[in-house]
Amino acid sequence: MSAEPGTISRRQLRFGSPALRHLEWPSFDARGGEDGPHLAIIAGIHGCEYSSIAAVVELMRGLDAASLKGRVTAVPIVNLESHRQRTPFVSPADGKNLNRCFPGDLRGTYSDQLAHHVHNEVIAPADALIDLHGGDMVEALEPFALYDGSPVEETARAMAVAFGLPYIVRTEREGAPIGGTTSAAAADAGVPAVTAEVGGRGLLEAGAVAAHVRGCRNVIRQLGMLEGPVEPAPGPQHTVDRFVWLRCRRAGWWQPSVRVGDEVPAGGRLGAVLDAYGDELEVIEAPEPGVPLFITSSPAVADDGLLLGLGAGIRPLAEYAGSDPV
Ligand SMILES: [Zn+2]
Repeated sequence: MSAEPGTISRRQLRFGSPALRHLEWPSFDARGGEDGPHLAIIAGIHGCEYSSIAAVVELMRGLDAASLKGRVTAVPIVNLESHRQRTPFVSPADGKNLNRCFPGDLRGTYSDQLAHHVHNEVIAPADALIDLHGGDMVEALEPFALYDGSPVEETARAMAVAFGLPYIVRTEREGAPIGGTTSAAAADAGVPAVTAEVGGRGLLEAGAVAAHVRGCRNVIRQLGMLEGPVEPAPGPQHTVDRFVWLRCRRAGWWQPSVRVGDEVPAGGRLGAVLDAYGDELEVIEAPEPGVPLFITSSPAVADDGLLLGLGAGIRPLAEYAGSDPV
């Protein structure tokens, strides 16, 4: 059943795979009064990133479908099981990080099957994707937007800039810290995508929700789906050439000595991993100058545990204009 033009309908999505049959995903479907692009907006790929989930609901409840050109489909909580059982990063059913499982696999477990259906039924049919994130339950972050190097990256980059966050990170496919993300799979399907990261530490924060809503509205305008100019970013924007993820060798007690957004020189101390007696097992230093964009906020870290993501090669956005790699 499709919605009338100029209205927003609510639908429960159902996916037929064995691991998903017991679940229903609330979704919004806004049909514009005029034709235009089809934008998919998702959140809750990580189930405890509450500000981004709240932002999808606020955005869709406030959208004026009559003045919309095109269609916006939105799923506020993709990883229902992770959300309901409050498991940061991973799905409780299989211990997998859903944002490493795209484009999915029907022969796999819960996360693989869910990625398959969301990719094929929500993301691939759209003309563009916004995937809202934040720091999960145990992660602090400085707001940033990610897009992937791909044949559709010009549009993806324009969406990332329009979102209006302080840092814009281009992920090169070769040597990327992670694979299997929504945005990379979307790019492979020819769908330009931006991943927006605001909020964190399991908190529902009004400022983070507002930044996500403002960013989505800006992208909707930038895609020509709503009248009006893209609002200028509330602060300076920078591009990030490299995203360096730092890990510890051994499990221990992680004690950062910097905060997200701090400028750190090459060799600057980022923190240390201590043993249970408080002795330093390992000192973590910045391999190059940069700004921590996310920091694991829980002191408990495992062997090879992720500690921090350092944005490096940072330049003001204006300086970067016109020097895009072809
Ligand atoms: Zn996330």
